Amino acid sequence: MGLVLYNTMTRRKEEFRPREDGRVLMYVCGPTVYNYIHVGNGRAYLVFDVIRRYLRHKGYEVFYVQNFTDVDDKIINRAREEGKAPQEIARFYERAFREDMQALNVLPPDVSPRATETIPQMLEMIRTLVEKGHAYVVDGDVYFSVESFEGYGKLSGRSLEEMRAGERVEVDERKRHPMDFALWKASKPGEPAWESPWGMGRPGWHIECSAMSLQHLGMGFDIHGGGQDLIFPHHENEIAQSEAYSGAGPFVRYWLHNGFVNIREEKMSKSLGNIVLVREILKHYPADAVRLLALQTHYRSPIDFGPEALEEAKRALERIENCLFALDSFVARPPARVAPARTQREVELSDSFFDFERRFEEAMDDDFNTARAMGVIFELVKELNSYLDEQQRFQTPASPMVASHGRDVLLRLCRVLGLLAPTAQGEGEDVACEDAGKGEGDSLPTAESLVELLLEVRAMARERKQFETADFIRSRLREMGIRVDDLREGQRWKFVGKEE
Ligand SMILES: [Zn+2]
Repeated sequence: MGLVLYNTMTRRKEEFRPREDGRVLMYVCGPTVYNYIHVGNGRAYLVFDVIRRYLRHKGYEVFYVQNFTDVDDKIINRAREEGKAPQEIARFYERAFREDMQALNVLPPDVSPRATETIPQMLEMIRTLVEKGHAYVVDGDVYFSVESFEGYGKLSGRSLEEMRAGERVEVDERKRHPMDFALWKASKPGEPAWESPWGMGRPGWHIECSAMSLQHLGMGFDIHGGGQDLIFPHHENEIAQSEAYSGAGPFVRYWLHNGFVNIREEKMSKSLGNIVLVREILKHYPADAVRLLALQTHYRSPIDFGPEALEEAKRALERIENCLFALDSFVARPPARVAPARTQREVELSDSFFDFERRFEEAMDDDFNTARAMGVIFELVKELNSYLDEQQRFQTPASPMVASHGRDVLLRLCRVLGLLAPTAQGEGEDVACEDAGKGEGDSLPTAESLVELLLEVRAMARERKQFETADFIRSRLREMGIRVDDLREGQRWKFVGKEE
């Protein structure tokens, strides 16, 4: 069974099939850059970073687009408050956003278009919508007519009647229906403005995302993501505009939405002050603890980002780090002269690694169930810790290969989720951890350690009754002047020189 994901549009889990084999085109609504990013929005970028990383792990080539909304009422108001130009505010917080994402180890998008640089595409869309009768002009504003689009409400699952009854929309005599929304707004003096067939103005928020996603990904792209708060009206409106414009559907194959973030305000202000901004949290907690906290809850469920939850995540992170450190120290012990055969315990442990990896993958294939995947990781940590404890207690001649293999599996699973990743820049490289204090790792391994490695492989082959392989290793070593003897306690080797 392959990857299954929950599609907000159909309200059920579906098997994932991208439009093009092996390639995933993905759009996530980016920030409106008028302030530092709040953890509520930060969660979305972490969630979609994990989804993107996992899709890559599955072998897909992922093309990820995430916009910047750099023209908006909030930006204009902020600029007015600070006596600055809206553009200046937008660029400042765009840079801050990029810094925060880098600090969170979120991979940068392949393309991050700015709304203000996509105006011609928006004008083209709006012009077509007016021509087709899906939009109308009133005093320099252009509105989308929701009644002109049959499927309006299909994402949020509400009918126009329900919306009219349920929403307390202020009556705007100029609109044909209370739910009609602005595609283009006539600018007031002093506001950013662009020329248009309807006079100087600026785009509405919803048309920005339609124009930018269609420009870079085309109709029918694979995944559109965002927070649940964007389902209505933002994403509903994106669908209406895009499908009415193109005359075809669907706009998007799979709609993915992450759950809300709860923050217990009172408690927070008492303990750590105002910690609702991502950069404030990162002053107190490592980025991996923040990520781990996000991973421990399914992305569609609500999550609490309070200080207690963060403290707990930090301790959980330390459990993983301590285990990796212990494994490293264990593996770095000087090799025994006699390479021991693996004990029954070690054989079983080694075999169980495949099982851990399989269960991890099954959890992630089930609508990116990171909570379950993290559970598998912590079980592995527990298993490895108890193995290390036993070694400590009984001082048996242990096989460093088992510990080393365990370490690799643990690190690999963490990195699939973006945990303990080298850096957002160094992504994609499947390199071993560049731990501090392991400087000698740069030099070539000694011939002795390579012989030990070969003997480990030989011991494994013998356990699996692959005697041909075991014999092959022994005879090739003998050709190089190394004699291997099989003793009761394991294999012993000696350099005896080449046979004449
Ligand atoms: Zn959007």
